[in-house]
Amino acid sequence: MASTRISKDADVAVVGLGAWGACALWQLAKRGIDVVGVDRYGIANVHGSSHGESRMFRTACLEHPGLVPLARRSGELWGALEAETGTRLLERTGAMLIGPRDGRIAGGALAAAREHGLETELLDAAAMRRRVPAHAALPDDHVGVFEREGGLALPERTIRAAVCAARAAGAVVFDHTRVTGIELVDGGAVVHTALRPLHVDRVVVAAGPWLSQLVPELPLEVVRMPTTWFTPAQPDPRFTLENLPVFMRELDGGDVIWGHGQLADHDELKLGLEDGGRHFRVVDPEGMDRSVSPVDWSVLAGILPRAIPGVGALPSRVTANLYARTPDGQFVLGTLRRDPRIVVAGGCSSHGFKHATGIGEVIADLVQGKPAAFPLGFTDPDRFL
Ligand SMILES: Cc1cc2nc3c(=O)[nH]c(=O)nc-3n(C[C@H](O)[C@H](O)[C@H](O)COP(=O)(O)OP(=O)(O)OC[C@H]3O[C@@H](n4cnc5c(N)ncnc54)[C@H](O)[C@@H]3O)c2cc1C
Repeated sequence: MASTRISKDADVAVVGLGAWGACALWQLAKRGIDVVGVDRYGIANVHGSSHGESRMFRTACLEHPGLVPLARRSGELWGALEAETGTRLLERTGAMLIGPRDGRIAGGALAAAREHGLETELLDAAAMRRRVPAHAALPDDHVGVFEREGGLALPERTIRAAVCAARAAGAVVFDHTRVTGIELVDGGAVVHTALRPLHVDRVVVAAGPWLSQLVPELPLEVVRMPTTWFTPAQPDPRFTLENLPVFMRELDGGDVIWGHGQLADHDELKLGLEDGGRHFRVVDPEGMDRSVSPVDWSVLAGILPRAIPGVGALPSRVTANLYARTPDGQFVLGTLRRDPRIVVAGGCSSHGFKHATGIGEVIADLVQGKPAAFPLGFTDPDRFL
């Protein structure tokens, strides 16, 4: 604790307006809370975890059974944000989880569907090859789990829409303004920024890959995860979004690829490799070189000719994304026990976009001291301390 506070700028500050912070800003402002949001870069920037035009949305959450209700609620809130802003933010094309029947991806989806009564369709390899010909090389003992409610969420549009809706509800936003520290003072907190200090009651820290710079006790690693697009060798109806809905596919040997067909007016398919701790590098988000090199795409380019024949051998576009990884792969979402004035939201471990709108609501509940609508003990930020 340091100096006594002078006058208040807002009730709450949200530090970081990526997917999670933007949705928190929206939910807080909608509740009539006097809130200010700060981001060191522009709104919907290309520096953190939330750029790259699309993200998979599904409620069959393999990563933790407790995430299923959060994903369902997020789907509802996406609808609310779409209605409020008149913008299409989630394309419900359905989502496919593919691989060995008892494997991590298809097996995990089936387990989540069983436990939570999700509506899914199980397709054997022959049915999969007919339904999604881009997966024609699927081995006979692999299956596909189709979730009709799944689809593609549009990250940049979602962030812009949430910030726009928050502003319309009274939120104040400082972009291109870096938060340099959070100081706890009598009766509140001071958020020090490159512009000026902001005096508030409570702080939400949703700084994505930079979270542990502001909350150093959190054991987060920052991982560089490339996003890659490929153009078909020749025009091919197998690769339209309609014919190749968003998928995750586990290959024999354990690698997992993900992606989707061409968006309207795009030639490119998005195809990527899941981390699994095997191929991607841990980096320093301040010092890293953001230009891409073959290290970013060569493993994937070696896998694709066997997995999805017909796409070009080299990517047509590559960008470097970052995400924060926790030791157990679950989020850090909650109030810090050392000081309830600070709510942290991060450690997305590369599966957090689909939950962004629901997490915004959870954060607003935490700020207001309300219990979360569903049990989220597994995201307690103090579990590592
Ligand atoms: C390549 C890739 C693919 C993915 N695919 C999927 C998917 O298909 N489905 C899915 O559900 N999830 C997916 N994820 C995960 C998902 O994208 C993330 O969980 C989500 O985007 C996390 O958002 P965030 O708000 O926590 O972080 P970010 O979007 O990085 O936001 C953090 C913000 O904090 C700001 N900031 C940082 N430090 C400061 C500071 N000191 N002062 C002020 N502002 C600061 C940054 O500028 C940034 O805007 C993927 C992730 C990656 C990297």
